[in-house]
Amino acid sequence: MPAVGGVEASPTAAGWGILGDQLQERVVEYFPIFMRLTGEPCLLVGGGEVALRKARLLLSAGARLTVVAPQLVDELAALLASGQIAHVDACFSALHVGGQRLVIAATNDREVNRLVSQTAQAQGIPVNVVDDPELSSYITPAIVDRSPLVIAVSTGGGVPVLARLIRARLESLIPAGFGRLARFATRFREQVKARFGNVEERRAFWESVLEGPLAECVMNGDERQAETELLQRLAAGDTTPAGAVYLVGAGPGNPDLLTFRALRLMQQADVVLYDNLVAPELMELVRRDAERIFVGKQRANHAMAQEEINSLLVRLAQEGKRVLRLKGGDPFTFGRGGEEIELLAEHNIPFEVVPGITSASGAAAYAGIPLTHRDHAQSVVFVTGHKKDGSIQLDWPALTRPDQTVVVYMGLAMVAEICAAFIAHGKAPTTPVAVVHRATTDQQRTLVGTLQTLPGLIQGSGISSPSLIIVGEVVALSSRLGWFRRVEGAAVTIGHDE
Ligand code: SAH
Repeated sequence: MPAVGGVEASPTAAGWGILGDQLQERVVEYFPIFMRLTGEPCLLVGGGEVALRKARLLLSAGARLTVVAPQLVDELAALLASGQIAHVDACFSALHVGGQRLVIAATNDREVNRLVSQTAQAQGIPVNVVDDPELSSYITPAIVDRSPLVIAVSTGGGVPVLARLIRARLESLIPAGFGRLARFATRFREQVKARFGNVEERRAFWESVLEGPLAECVMNGDERQAETELLQRLAAGDTTPAGAVYLVGAGPGNPDLLTFRALRLMQQADVVLYDNLVAPELMELVRRDAERIFVGKQRANHAMAQEEINSLLVRLAQEGKRVLRLKGGDPFTFGRGGEEIELLAEHNIPFEVVPGITSASGAAAYAGIPLTHRDHAQSVVFVTGHKKDGSIQLDWPALTRPDQTVVVYMGLAMVAEICAAFIAHGKAPTTPVAVVHRATTDQQRTLVGTLQTLPGLIQGSGISSPSLIIVGEVVALSSRLGWFRRVEGAAVTIGHDE
């Protein structure tokens, strides 16, 4: 017999001893399990708000719930009235515990909670006392619920707030549609297993499905289409990844203004096509090993012609790649997004357009200029100051209407002509105008003047593209409502009216 620590022990005991020593560094204090409670009798002691939260959780798991409490909050009373719970209208007694599968104590009396805990533990029934790990034989994790996909987070009962913070991060990363996707995939589990005897092939098949356009299709609610495609791939034994193009709006530049969906697609793309409007901070959020292709576009200085970009998108997707076309702002607002997807549609390539915050919204919010206002502007118009041939032909009578805000994209180079045209078509020369440069980023600069003074203010200010011009009475509000940027320390320069 080997001796452990000087004591003669059985092989089993020696095994435990060694295992215990090896694991000392990383003891898992709580063993995580997911427990089936459908139809199982569970006991909840307590009738207040905390008990109510636990009751909802247990009911969502299908438990047959009995609540012991001399009093019930209204919502618990309602659950009782609708027959969803049973009620023992009394103080807790040890007799209530017998036969239960799980017990939760949620009273505000620690002695009662202790009695519940002791009674349950004496009978080997798992018991949790809310916010009291010492009296609990198990603890309940913070959960991200995308049923049947459930993620549980625990800090061993030590720092529940931290678990909740982690949960909040996960909530933002895991698309709401994942539950639907999990249910969808489960339906085909047996069929896929039968088709691919080989585990490797089976994994490749599921990866091609769960990471490709088919999965997006399910999450967008089109299960019929997804099912047809899945069955086709299954019949053909196709495990190669399916290509697709995602035309994604990256917002005006501040990474915090990305949508969850944009971020997720950025993190799973194989190739990213981007241009100068996409800030470097945003590119850092793209999957590390994704190929990056700069297709930079500047006014009249296109690094790659639009037609080349369009056919590159088609070619990459046909190679089976998940292609991300990242666009500044919103892809369908002066983004030529429409042109880029036309060719994709012609070639039957799956694509998806993800909206982004357009720079007009970003600039307005960060410069304190509400685009509409009950007193000053009942409508807002977005126009471009740039035409293919370099001239500006705009509908001036429409743009100079009263009570309207006009936002000019790509107008900086022509700002003098634009301001002059507003005046020539009847706008007061004192109409407030702002130019907002690199809106929403830490390089944002806002200049405020009038139709008469703004071109002069811009000269020598160092302001360059990308910048937006905002014309209308609402601009005057920026001195009062632009506090947000000033608090953040960005440069706001107010040009004064003469
Ligand atoms: N699709 C983009 C617009 C592309 S056109 C969107 O929805 O915002 C390019 C023009 O957008 C620039 O010339 C500039 O006028 C404007 N722009 C884009 N990002 C900007 C930003 N961060 N600040 C100010 N203007 C911006």
